[in-house]
Amino acid sequence: MSKYDFITEELTRLKNEGLYNNIRTISSPQGAHLIVDGKKVLNMCSNNYLGFANDPALVKAAENAVLKYGAGPGAVRSIAGTLDLHIELEKKLAQFKKVDAAIFLQSGFVANQAVIPSIVDSAEDAVFTDELNHASIIDGVRLTKAQRFIYKHNNPEDLRKKLEEGKAARRKLIITDGVFSMDGDIAPLDKIAEIAEEYNAITMVDDAHGEGVLGEAGRGIVDHFKLHNKFDIEVGTMSKAFGVVGGFVAGKSELIEYLKQKARPFLFSSATTPADTAACMAAVEILLGSGDRVKKLWDNANYFKENMKKLGFDIGVSQTPITPVMLGEASAAQTFSKKLFEEGIFAMAIGFPTVAKGKARIRVMISAAHSKEDLDTTLAAFEKVGKELGTGG
Ligand code: PMP
Repeated sequence: MSKYDFITEELTRLKNEGLYNNIRTISSPQGAHLIVDGKKVLNMCSNNYLGFANDPALVKAAENAVLKYGAGPGAVRSIAGTLDLHIELEKKLAQFKKVDAAIFLQSGFVANQAVIPSIVDSAEDAVFTDELNHASIIDGVRLTKAQRFIYKHNNPEDLRKKLEEGKAARRKLIITDGVFSMDGDIAPLDKIAEIAEEYNAITMVDDAHGEGVLGEAGRGIVDHFKLHNKFDIEVGTMSKAFGVVGGFVAGKSELIEYLKQKARPFLFSSATTPADTAACMAAVEILLGSGDRVKKLWDNANYFKENMKKLGFDIGVSQTPITPVMLGEASAAQTFSKKLFEEGIFAMAIGFPTVAKGKARIRVMISAAHSKEDLDTTLAAFEKVGKELGTGG
């Protein structure tokens, strides 16, 4: 017996059950068209909602920052890694989110690790978390000793029940994704805010898939519900609609000041690079100036979704440009994805554990970078493969 047997066994199991993740390699900039594994394809599965990833203004900002500040940050933010660029970006993010202040971190994943254990830490505290919250929230919760209450997905009544059970806790933190990334549905933030007030609970939303998508010119889900200053903590990412990499937390000045003293990824992991920070800033500036890209994103999404429904596909309950094409078993979704790839469409299959067993899907991600012709090409490929496999279309 080898000490690595468990690894071989697990890899074999994943392959046998159609759950093995075949990771494709890209050799072109991110955009509507990509070169994937050497093949030119139409990109229907990235989070580049607004087409910022290879935008000339962002590329130029990154280039200028490299020339001025060099390649690396040199240290963690709290020792010698805070650049004037970081501070400027934090101010712009706060302006964009219409809150007092923001703290910029290395990624959205890290932002959840930064904020959750800083707010609730001991067993006297309690976390109330939606059962479908993102892995980075789940891991953030794992970092605290707080009691855990998992409420039913998007179910304010169940949240109320759980708050009643945990009402004696010293601090109470309610956490929800804004837009649920696998189904594209939206959390009922208005109802959550109301219930939170009754129980004096702190509210937190992870707006990774809402920024650049929902609200005025993409200001996100809090803006969509007009809950400014009523939702305590907004977590964000710069890796999706903003097209770069990085994460942030936005809220009241005192909260942000506190996180700069307490958040472990801020204190113990190096700062974001000058190039990334400058590119993020360019994206925020463009959105502060115009909502045109957000409008194009929604026009594209509405067109694609309507036509997928007409073709007879089950596209779930999405309220956003995320378009899950429900296919059942993981192996069915993988076969569908492979056939689409043969047709020149890059759209990855998603199965367990990212989504529940039997709920495998192809998640189509619509972007403002797509032309109408791109969408029509994709619709035709879905129709063709669907007919071939007898799964809609
Ligand atoms: N939260 C949610 C809801 C997400 O969908 C993601 C990205 N998959 C993240 C956080 C992590 O963001 P990042 O890629 O910036 O680490």
